Parts: sequence; structure tokens; C-alpha cells
Amino acid sequence: MKIAFIGLGNMGGGMAANLVKAGHEVRAFDLSKDALAAAKDNGCATFTDAREAAEGVDAVVTMLPNGEIVKAVYSDSVIGHAPKGSVLLDCSTIDVATAKDVTGLAERAGYAMVDAPVSGGIVAANGGTLTFMVGGSDAAFARAKPVLEAMGKAVIHAGQAGAGQTAKICNNMLLAISMIGTAEAMKMAQKLGLDPQKFYEISSQSSGYCWSLNAYTPMPGVGVESPADNEYQGGFATALMLKDLRLAMAAAEEAGAGVPLGSRAASLYEDFAGKGNGGLDFSAIIKTY
Ligand code: NAD
Repeated sequence: MKIAFIGLGNMGGGMAANLVKAGHEVRAFDLSKDALAAAKDNGCATFTDAREAAEGVDAVVTMLPNGEIVKAVYSDSVIGHAPKGSVLLDCSTIDVATAKDVTGLAERAGYAMVDAPVSGGIVAANGGTLTFMVGGSDAAFARAKPVLEAMGKAVIHAGQAGAGQTAKICNNMLLAISMIGTAEAMKMAQKLGLDPQKFYEISSQSSGYCWSLNAYTPMPGVGVESPADNEYQGGFATALMLKDLRLAMAAAEEAGAGVPLGSRAASLYEDFAGKGNGGLDFSAIIKTY
């Protein structure tokens, strides 16, 4: 397929390279010259104008920072410029309302579109092992699936437009709450005189079992190896977790959903990031206890 790829940053760069490896012809655009140069090295054709990149393609993939940029790129450079009937895939993490809005604009102009945010960070983007949660019609999903399969290990149809973004922010809100809960319980056990490794051994095989404890233990030297053992470098940055929590809070307000724990988690991450910790892995929240 001929695929336009817009947004070749930390995530998009590796994703575009995997589309090339799968045999697709990739037409890349980014505002950053460095990102474009790296895409060229990875076998993409590069363009200095998004509209040109979108000419004559079968599909457009975007991996951009936020909803405002996604809407501007689709309105100004994709819709009306990519061939009608091509399939549009936004893999960025953005707010549910904008995802639905942009899909509506695209569909009314004769395109098929999905929102397809990802789980997995830069390592998974480079390795082609992302999980995609996809919102859109059955027909749009069927057309997007082979493109996504070249970049990931799992492609799940979540529901109609916006459902991919909904799955992503609800999952990450749960993750934030469970990480804070894990940190809080581990530190309390330690304060009460229990060896944290013993706590890990017991709780990870009891009803406290959860991904944050079992697969991503937030205390250095305890449980499984994780970013905690590397001074909280790498992994999933606090700033990105905060971004997802803010999207979750906006969506909760719009839906009238009560999220007392989600909103407490958002404010704890807001405080933690505000103290200069945005670059640390999100499990470093344990340092606040
Ligand atoms: P990034 O900042 O590294 O990359 C974004 C790229 O978009 C940059 O290269 C930037 O130059 C480009 N860009 C910005 N505006 C543009 C425009 N108008 N036209 C063309 N290019 C433009 O960000 P990232 O880490 O790659 O994240 C991308 C998306 O993936 C975000 O929505 C993020 O929330 C999501 N995400 C990131 C991770 C992660 O671990 N980094 C994990 C899951 C999801």
C-alpha cells in the first residue's frame, strides 16, 4: 500500500519504519527536519508539505501530540487532499470528543476513519509490538486492520468512533490508581516493619495481585525488575501519564461519570509532575510516600 505517515516523533518514527519493513511505500511528513531525516534513513520518502505526502495514497496514519494538532492536520492537509475513499488512522492519544469530531468530518467527506491509540511505549513502537485499541465502523476497522498489524502485536476493535480513545484513557486511569495503591500499600507495610520483599511475595499471590505490583513493582530491589531498579528512567513518563489523566478527567466530566479515585490520582500526578518529576517513570510516584 501507499501510506502517508504524519508525525514521526518518538513513537511515529519506529512505526513508520515498521510499515516500510512490511513492504509498504511510506510518504512521511513532520515539522521537524531531524525527524524527517531519520525517516529517510529508515526507507520513507519524505515531504516538506503534509498535503503532498497525502497525494495518491491508500491510507494516512497520524501520530501527533494532541487533539488540537490532530484536528488541524486532518482539516487542513488530509481531508480533501488524500484520495476520497482512502482510510485514515489516527494513532495519537487525544480527547474522545475531538476523535469523534474528526471522524465525523472525514466520513462526511467520503473517507473511512478510525481512532487507534496504542498501549506500549517507544520500545514497542520500534519493535512492532504495540497494542492498538480501535474505534470506528466495522468497514473502517476491516480496512485499518492490516495497516495496524504491520506495527503491532494486537489489534482490538473497541467499538464505534471514539471507543479506542475511551478504552485507552479508562485503562490508563485504572493503571494510575493501581500504581498509587500499590505504592501506598508497599510503603505502609514497610513502615509497619514488614520486609517489602515479603509483602511483594504475599500480596502478589493474594488478592492484592495486580499489574502494578506483579509486573512493574515500584520499589527498587523488590519484586520484578522495573524502571524503579534504574532510578525510574525509561518506562512510561509521569508527564505522559498526566496527559492521559487530564484527558480522562475531561471525558468523565463530559459523560457525567463520577471518578473520585481517578480525580485524586490526577491531582497526585499533577503535584508530582509539577515538582520537576515529569521525566521520571510514573511508578516514581512512590517517592512521595
Ligand atoms: P513526540 O513529541 O516525540 O512526536 C510528535 C511528533 O509530531 C513530533 O516529531 C512533532 O514534530 C510532530 N508534529 C507536531 N505537530 C505537527 C504537525 N502539525 N504536523 C506534522 N508533525 C507534527 O511524541 P510521541 O512520544 O511520539 O507521542 C505521539 C503520540 O503518541 C502522543 O499522542 C502520545 O500521547 C502517544 N503515546 C506516546 C507514548 C510514548 O511512550 N511516547 C505511548 C503511548 C502513546
